[in-house]
Amino acid sequence: MGRITIVAINRKGEITMTEKNGVSRRHTLQGVGLAGAAAFLGAKAGGGEAATNRESVMPGRANPAIVKKVFETPFIDTHEHLLEEKERLAASHPRVQADDWSLLLNHYLNSDLLVAGMPKSAYDAFFSAKTDPVDKWRHLEPYWPAVKNTGYAQAVRIAMQQIYDVDELSATTVKKVQAAYEQTRRAGFYRRILCDLGKIESCQVNCLGRPFSESDMPTLLMQDLSILGMFAGPDFKTFAKPTGIEVRSLADWHRVIDWWFDKYAKYAVAVKSQNAYNRDIDYEQVPAEKVEAAFKRRLSNEPLRTEERKALEDHLFWYAVKKATEHNLPVKLHTGYYAGQNGMPLDRLLHNPGSATDLCRKAPETRFVFMHICYPYYEELLAVAKQYTNAYVDMCWSWIINPVAAKDFLKILTFGGDYIPVEPVLGHATIARRGIALALSELVEEGWLTLPDAMALIDPIMHNNARQIFNLAEKTQILENVKWT
Ligand SMILES: [Zn+2]
Repeated sequence: MGRITIVAINRKGEITMTEKNGVSRRHTLQGVGLAGAAAFLGAKAGGGEAATNRESVMPGRANPAIVKKVFETPFIDTHEHLLEEKERLAASHPRVQADDWSLLLNHYLNSDLLVAGMPKSAYDAFFSAKTDPVDKWRHLEPYWPAVKNTGYAQAVRIAMQQIYDVDELSATTVKKVQAAYEQTRRAGFYRRILCDLGKIESCQVNCLGRPFSESDMPTLLMQDLSILGMFAGPDFKTFAKPTGIEVRSLADWHRVIDWWFDKYAKYAVAVKSQNAYNRDIDYEQVPAEKVEAAFKRRLSNEPLRTEERKALEDHLFWYAVKKATEHNLPVKLHTGYYAGQNGMPLDRLLHNPGSATDLCRKAPETRFVFMHICYPYYEELLAVAKQYTNAYVDMCWSWIINPVAAKDFLKILTFGGDYIPVEPVLGHATIARRGIALALSELVEEGWLTLPDAMALIDPIMHNNARQIFNLAEKTQILENVKWT
């Protein structure tokens, strides 16, 4: 038996909260276990009365004043990979494997399915555009119980509750889920899901198909400039062609990098690299003359030794970082956990926090945003942020990697959905709101924070820090008037 608070949000975004006693054991935190705590969201309250799809259930220990403010406060979402809405609607984008409800499971949750033992044949059938959407349940069903309580699945289930009004995905509801998917996926659905339902003020998109995306909704889908291919590879094809520069030397390549900054730095909110998927972030400051020869060999497709390749990447990384710093753009770096499955070398990730301190020391003028709390080495990353003025920690993605760990971490930039499809962003935002409210409540309850101090932290961690770090007022003004050419 326990006490819970039901947070209901009406269509206008107004909050009402009701406290209830004597909830059935199934609906207490102990009942579902910590890993399933987020399963509460949208669950029906004890006594059998129907909850609407816009209700979240908080345990009684959550402070009502904190819960109310956290659910009312807009988020700035500092990291997404969202396609443009028109790309979703056209459904011809390679990332839209099948334009049906399986798409909601196709980013992240697909990895949990494979790790849970779903065979490749069932996996392919489930995500195929050729399988009837309603038949897809048959392929998913045997593996659903194994994954349905993970963070990745919670984000999808909450999205289905809040957007489709479906509490439980099953053989009986799959038809309704598919119909609601089609009903939702219409012009304007990005604003409806992100702004109206998710109370997200703006997102920061790291486009996966090109270095910078000239968005149709530039003030909602703000963009990072990707520096990855400027130094890793480097990616001659993607970066050189639009510039018209013929690359014959390292100096030419520097001019290519300059071109991207000259064209897009003023519209970008940050630069981004996910190079930590291939190596540690231990970039040395290597002078140009030491890598000139290696660059030329790379240009003519000759193989480089490991240490030559590293020196070249290191040199170009710092060249791009220096440009970003000149343009007052923070540098967002992936740290920690890898998306996907069966590939992550944990001992490499272990070095990320130590290398982060080296970066901060080498470039005190550069603001580094270390993403994903370097999961699972988040204690170490906390130490980095505590010690270095120019280190910022971004909790993007972490609420669905491990909701409970994320709740215990709570720091600086608290939300980024990190999704390609837009729907689960809403689920992820709800998990984040719930975790923020619980973490602050616990800190007050245990005497680490006063209630006024906890209340005063909500605006900074949910949006004010992001506004400052990424200069969003100025960027919004520029983007409001942008005409892409
Ligand atoms: Zn990402």
